[in-house]
Amino acid sequence: MARLMVSISGVRGIIGEGLSPEVALHFAQAFGTYCNGGPVVVARDSRTSGEMIQHAVVSGLMATGNPVIELGICPTPTTQMATEKLQAAGGIMITASHNPVMWNGLKLLAPDGLFLDSEQSKQVVQLYQDRAFALKTWDDLGLVKTYDRAVQDHLDTVLHLPFIHTEQIRARRFKVVADCINGAGAVIIPKLLKELGCDIVVLNGTPDGRFPRTPEPLPENLGEVCKAVHQYGADLGVVVDPDSDRLALVSEKGIPLGEEYTLALAVDFVLQHRRGPVVVNVSTSQVIDDIARRYDCRVERTRVGEINVAKLMREIGAVVGGEGNGGVILPDVHLGRDAIVGITLILQKMAQTSKSLHQLFSELPQYKIVKTKIELPTGIDTAAVVESIRQKYQNENLDMTDGVKILRPHAWVQVRASNTEPILRVMAEAPTEQEAHALAQELKQATARIVSNPST
Ligand code: MG
Repeated sequence: MARLMVSISGVRGIIGEGLSPEVALHFAQAFGTYCNGGPVVVARDSRTSGEMIQHAVVSGLMATGNPVIELGICPTPTTQMATEKLQAAGGIMITASHNPVMWNGLKLLAPDGLFLDSEQSKQVVQLYQDRAFALKTWDDLGLVKTYDRAVQDHLDTVLHLPFIHTEQIRARRFKVVADCINGAGAVIIPKLLKELGCDIVVLNGTPDGRFPRTPEPLPENLGEVCKAVHQYGADLGVVVDPDSDRLALVSEKGIPLGEEYTLALAVDFVLQHRRGPVVVNVSTSQVIDDIARRYDCRVERTRVGEINVAKLMREIGAVVGGEGNGGVILPDVHLGRDAIVGITLILQKMAQTSKSLHQLFSELPQYKIVKTKIELPTGIDTAAVVESIRQKYQNENLDMTDGVKILRPHAWVQVRASNTEPILRVMAEAPTEQEAHALAQELKQATARIVSNPST
């Protein structure tokens, strides 16, 4: 894997190997130039390298004359909201999201708090590569101030949503185990749960960036929280990634529900209160389609990537949306994936139905997703391989939004090229793991035949 990735989603790299203060400095100067010297919000997750990178970023922005508004440690969704609220020209979130602790990176935000789209990102990357920085003289440098209400603003917005009844949630006195992985979530999630009257057990609640496990909230990484839910007899467990845009849930039985079901439960709750279109990415579970059908609502699908989902949601006035990796987007709060929103919606749903999380989960259609990848020989044209797959399956029901997705009754399989590695990602979903696995294998084998014999 590349040690430094400069792409349309910003920059991400391993500290000491690809990502250095120099890279962060130059990227901040490129972004400051792109923002025309306007104010820029800067925040970070809790990684041990965060403060070092922040100094470089702030230094770069000051050099290009941008006033800097520092938020300190806070989640990505909090930073997105603050960028919009404070009417900044942009925002920089210092995080490598779910990547392990040796990584860090910069996520770049537009004035509306959405991530830069591919066109906007290209402009920043061009300025970075050309070193075309609008550096200012001594009397025109940017000044730094801090804004310490971003977390409270975020909480206030979520707790005042029209369909959230905090009294109803408080009355239930839910027992919740919250695993913040010593990430940015630690500065907001315990506060949120306290406001909601929960009896809380916090695991890894010190935002010092010392992640005690692999930070991606996949079921196989959640052993500690599952055990704690059992031990404390909790109603549920909530787990976030280091920048708290993704949320995974653990039922009262100590079983991880899988991130797809975070979004499913949230969509089910919102559509109960408000009918309208739903937007998810093309790799998100079909359980969303089943749920939307119950409420007679339509589902639109986009390419993978939060910005793609957020932009289509705005365009068509979606009432809820997100990505299957535990990323719930509620436009009333902000057009970005938000674990704080996710937790609040789930607790409200539990409070008003008087059902346990496991019961609510069991009432939804059940699917299993299998993910695998195909390593390709170097130099191979991934687009041509994808096109050959399309031709092979052209008589089937296809969705070409991102790679090739083959739709079958109650199942689908998708093959798409990775943006960062010479691999194809294969994802399959079916009612059982066995069927999903068989589908993924079928596509893997078909692809292997195409790669080894391109003329057929
Ligand atoms: Mg994240």
